[in-house]
Amino acid sequence: MANLEEQDITCPFCGETITVFVDCSEDNQTYIDDCTVCCRPIEITTHCEEGTLISLNIGRS
Ligand SMILES: [Zn+2]
Repeated sequence: MANLEEQDITCPFCGETITVFVDCSEDNQTYIDDCTVCCRPIEITTHCEEGTLISLNIGRS
């Protein structure tokens, strides 16, 4: 079952704050999410433990 955590991140391209939903049912994930403001692809790397988000890193893909 998906365990989504809402996170505010800053887009590395346009600097706007956007909201993403992290699926904490996976311990480690890297995925691409398009910025809702500038539509450029943001690489999001997440680390979760026991369904709780521990860390989230943002990169340019
Ligand atoms: Zn952006």
